[in-house]
Parts: sequence; C-alpha cells; structure tokens
Amino acid sequence: MKVAIIGGGLAGLTAAAYLSENPHVEGILFERSPQLGGRAFTYEKAGFTLNYGAHAIYGIDRHTLTNMERELGLSFSSKQVDKRKVFYAKHNQLTAAPLDAINLLKTDLLSTMQKVRFVGEITAIIANIHNLKNYATLADYLAESNADEDVKELWEHLVCSNFFITPEDARNVSGAVISEYYHNLFLSTKPVNYVLGSWAVITNQLKQKLTTSGKWEIALQEGVESLRYADRKFVLQTKNREVAFDKVIFAMPVQQVIKLLKGTAWEPFLAPYESNTATEVMVYDVGLSRVVARPFSYISDMDNKLFISDVSATDHTLVPEGGQLLQGIAYLSDRFDNEEQRKAYLEEKNLQMEALFDKHYPGWRDVTAVKRVSKKAMVSSVKNIASNNLLPIRVENVPFYFCGDGCTGKGELAERAFSSARTAALSIVQEVQQALQNV
Ligand SMILES: Cc1cc2nc3c(=O)[nH]c(=O)nc-3n(C[C@H](O)[C@H](O)[C@H](O)COP(=O)(O)OP(=O)(O)OC[C@H]3O[C@@H](n4cnc5c(N)ncnc54)[C@H](O)[C@@H]3O)c2cc1C
Repeated sequence: MKVAIIGGGLAGLTAAAYLSENPHVEGILFERSPQLGGRAFTYEKAGFTLNYGAHAIYGIDRHTLTNMERELGLSFSSKQVDKRKVFYAKHNQLTAAPLDAINLLKTDLLSTMQKVRFVGEITAIIANIHNLKNYATLADYLAESNADEDVKELWEHLVCSNFFITPEDARNVSGAVISEYYHNLFLSTKPVNYVLGSWAVITNQLKQKLTTSGKWEIALQEGVESLRYADRKFVLQTKNREVAFDKVIFAMPVQQVIKLLKGTAWEPFLAPYESNTATEVMVYDVGLSRVVARPFSYISDMDNKLFISDVSATDHTLVPEGGQLLQGIAYLSDRFDNEEQRKAYLEEKNLQMEALFDKHYPGWRDVTAVKRVSKKAMVSSVKNIASNNLLPIRVENVPFYFCGDGCTGKGELAERAFSSARTAALSIVQEVQQALQNV
C-alpha cells in the first residue's frame, strides 16, 4: 500500500514513523518548507537553540509521547520544571502557583477556606465526579457555582495558562474538555517537563526511522498543490511531479486542509470546519550572554495574561556556557473592530512584556545576544473553545485521514498532534491487516 502524508511537522512525522514499521506500507512525506518540524522547528543562533514553539510537555508520565517512546523505541531525556519556582503575580503581589498540595498551602491567592474548597474541586476532577464536565462552557459552570471570585479567577487563569488563551476564551472552553484535561494533569506526578535538547531530539529520531526503513521518501520543498481521484487512486500534484497513492493523510493546520481541498468534491463535507479560529500568541524570546537573575522558572502576570519562562533554568542544553534563555508569551484576543485597534493592542502587549522583563530580569537589555519577537505565532490551529469544531481524524464521505493539533485527539497543543497522528496511522495499519486477511 502506498501512503502520502502531507505535512512534515510533529503530526506528519509521527504518522510516518508508525507506518514505517509496517512491511506492507511505503510512502512519501511531502513538506513544502526546506526543513522538517513545522511549528516545532528548532534552529541555532549565536550558540542558543531556539524553538519556534516551546517544548514543554504537560503531564509527561501520562502523555502520548511516552507511549511513542515505548512503541517507536524513541530515546530522550526530560527534566521537570522546578515547581517551587513557578509563581503568579497579581496586583503586584507574588505568590506560589497552586500546582500541587505544597504550593497550594503556600499560595496567597486563596484563603484557607478557599484552599479547602479548591482541593475538593481537584479531588472531584481526579475522581471524575466533578460537575464541571456537564456544563457546555466554563462560564456556565462558574455562573452556577457559589465559589468565591478568587476561586473562579483561579479556574479561569489555569485554563488561560494551559490552553494559551485569554480569559474571554477560557470562559468559552467546554466543561468536558477542561475536566478531561485536568483529570490527566492532576493525576500526573510530572506536570511540566521539558524534552532536553528541544523538539529536534524527537523530530530527528522520527526522521531517522523513515530513512532507515528504506520505504519512505522525504520530499522537502515539495508542497502538494492539488489532489484528484483517478483510476481508484488519489493523485497528488506538486510542482515537480504527479504521484498516485492508495491513502492520503493530511497532517497540516485545518485552514490549509480546507484550502487544498477547495473546488474538489470533498469541499462541502469540510464546511463545518471552515470558520474555526486558531490560538495565536505573541512570543518574545531573548538569549542573554549571562544569567541576569534566576528568581523563577515561570512567572505569570495574572493581570495582563502574559508569562515568562526561564527555559534554560530547566533545559541548560539550549544556551552557551553561562547564558540564559527566556521566553515571554502573551495570550492574544482576536476581537478587534479594525486593523488600527489590533496594532495598538499588540503594541501594548509588547510594552507590558518588556515591563515584565524589566521588573524581574533587570539588565536584560544590555546583555541580549539573540532576540526574536513574533506577534502572531500559531500555537494551535484550532482553538479548543465551544464555538469551534476540532477536525475528526475521519470525516464522513471523505476518504482521507486527518491529524495535527487542530484534530480530535488526547490533550492539547503538541499532544493533540501526536495523539491524532498515532490514531490515524494505526487505523491504516489495521486496514492493511484486514485487507491481508481477506486475500
Ligand atoms: C509559541 C508556541 C509555543 C508552543 N508551546 C508548546 C508547548 O510548550 N508544548 C506543546 O506541547 N506545544 C506547544 N506548541 C504547539 C506545538 O508547537 C504545535 O502543536 C505542533 O508543533 C503542531 O504540529 P502539527 O504537525 O500539527 O502542525 P505543523 O507544525 O504546523 O506542521 C504542518 C506542516 O505541514 C506543512 N504543510 C502545510 N501545507 C502543506 C502542503 N500543501 N504541502 C506540503 N506541506 C505542507 C507545513 O509547512 C508544516 O511543516 C507551541 C506552539 C507555539 C507557536
């Protein structure tokens, strides 16, 4: 069986790596850019290793990447972010983020009674008996809850942080999605880990599996431009060639899937996914030639909804000797009346971010060796809010498979790319086995 995978990000590489283990499957992985990795692309600059998207893994002991490590024979190390150095700042007051029981006891965000109540909420989520899962959105749950405003704000801020979204969007996340997410995270003994050495450690090994299988071609700088059905095959066209395949996996942002299938017979079936909005953030990476301060591994400004991670405090492999790598991220609203308003908003976020750097990392401006600011980085191709529809791995009346962080799957962000890709690949393997049994 010949399979095409369109997109060489985490999802495409994962699907291809699983399929490369099957002796009856061969294929081509098409990637339109000059390198693999997609939004998990890593590059070196002045001795710093910079990721386009960060490489934090939430709940690694229960994460799809841990299944992949075992099933695909991957080998990587990870390190836990120091939980005692994760802080929230609210109205100029710093306090421990309530990530676990010890931090919860220390935090000033809640009173003793509120802490008791919050522990009760966490316990109910872990036991899967929390009412939240029955509400259409977090806003609906909070409206009926008799919790204090501080507890409500904490719920909202947790969702902002884990889904990389603004409070308005956090209120619009479905109760079932939040329940499932925190059920997993609260059960984890390793809530936030970094893959040591960046995403490249994972993408290089996935690529290696394809190369050594001898059955997979990696076609870089070969974007798929169109697709048609002829002689019981799917014919993909790139600028260089036309190739026929038995199966096709789309491993790219949903917006690009829709674009590629425009004008085909399959377009109408994708209409429900056309108006999805993406999660976009502002990213402010700075590589410093020396460590200016190390008060936190993560500091979240609850008032302005932005945070700074001291990435090198956890992953020292990313910096030259004595250096420091800080990543600032601001959750962005996408509700503007006009372009002027959007520009002014982004400018304000930039100033708020620099003020946060000035406050906790004084002197950072003088020792900045590398700086990268992106005002519109796509964290997730579909924001997981109730008004959006994640793209299913299979869509009725459409013969293709879909995977990526805008598809249905376990977890958020990169985990959804991994989990949907794994499911898509394993479904094809199952079909191959069934076909062989029927011969
Ligand atoms: C700032 C930022 C921070 C992040 N932090 C984290 C984090 O801490 N933890 C976490 O888990 N996740 C994080 N993420 C999210 C994570 O990076 C993404 O979820 C993941 O990389 C998405 O992978 P993907 O394969 O689904 O999509 P992509 O990476 O977008 O891959 C799709 C690929 O398809 C290619 N393509 C598109 N169209 C075509 C075509 N027609 N032909 C051929 N190729 C095509 C593209 O070039 C691209 O390489 C972050 C992202 C950002 C931006």
